[in-house]
Amino acid sequence: MPYAIAIHGGAGTIPHNSLTPEREAALHAGLHAALDEGLGRLMAGQTALDAVEAAVMALEDNPLFNAGRGAVFNDQGFVELEAAIMDGPMRRAGSVTGVRRVRNPVRLARAIMEQTPHVTLGFDAADALAERLGLPAADADYFFTQARWDALQTELARLAAGGSDAEVSEQVKHGTVGAVALDRQGCLAAATSTGGRTAKMAGRIGDTPVIGAGTWADELVAVSCTGHGESFIRCAAAHEVASRIRYLGQPLIDACDEVVHGQLIEIGGTGGLIAVDWEGNIALPFNSEGMYRAAVNAEGERFVGIYR
Ligand code: ASP
Repeated sequence: MPYAIAIHGGAGTIPHNSLTPEREAALHAGLHAALDEGLGRLMAGQTALDAVEAAVMALEDNPLFNAGRGAVFNDQGFVELEAAIMDGPMRRAGSVTGVRRVRNPVRLARAIMEQTPHVTLGFDAADALAERLGLPAADADYFFTQARWDALQTELARLAAGGSDAEVSEQVKHGTVGAVALDRQGCLAAATSTGGRTAKMAGRIGDTPVIGAGTWADELVAVSCTGHGESFIRCAAAHEVASRIRYLGQPLIDACDEVVHGQLIEIGGTGGLIAVDWEGNIALPFNSEGMYRAAVNAEGERFVGIYR
């Protein structure tokens, strides 16, 4: 049976002309490493669920990406992390929002799926659950990165000067990590994790933990999104891809393109998504300048890219 995996590190890329070769190399290395975490599990015959969790954890641990360590700050100056995971075959799902202490929110999302009767938990109660389950925690220093702090100050100053949320560049606002995979048993899974948007209102919930918006997996397709979360929620973007395949019989590429280049654009939503279907086809569309992304398809071909 074929297996395949794709990952993303967010659609909020640095403009091409200001990306240094060193940073580009570090981003590529981070994407390769995360891809290998997932791929290794698929090659060893583990589940797609294990693969997407492992790949997302690697990206959460890498401060270059907006998730876990390296997450952006909200308008109060602290992180509020969000993550989701979904297991295609039985549509099991777990997600978490507004956590500030758990190191790997995607692990907590999986624990919510597997160890509670609920799908989504949030804020202090979710951090408390992580603690009870013994998931590694970290203090605010662990999540602090100077670059994200500087971005917050710039953004707060811009908003104070009357700037609007709509004008801000993709780079400042976007970023998320995610993975989708098909395993040797033919099962699909998706996972997504994010710090959300720089200077978001404290308590804001984006698309990532909303099952069907930023994250989806069933027996036909697995999808993980990145971009302007409010737009992805309003399009139920990830589920929309699945519906187009299920009810219209669209090929994966067409279903993804119609959501990313059609429905999202219609409401001004920038970003992209990664998707893999039951045959191992992969799509990595985005309508922003770039999207950090990597994949290994069913033929074993590896791809890593940032820009178009
Ligand atoms: N979708 C994320 C959010 O809105 C951010 C991003 O992917 O850029 O929280």
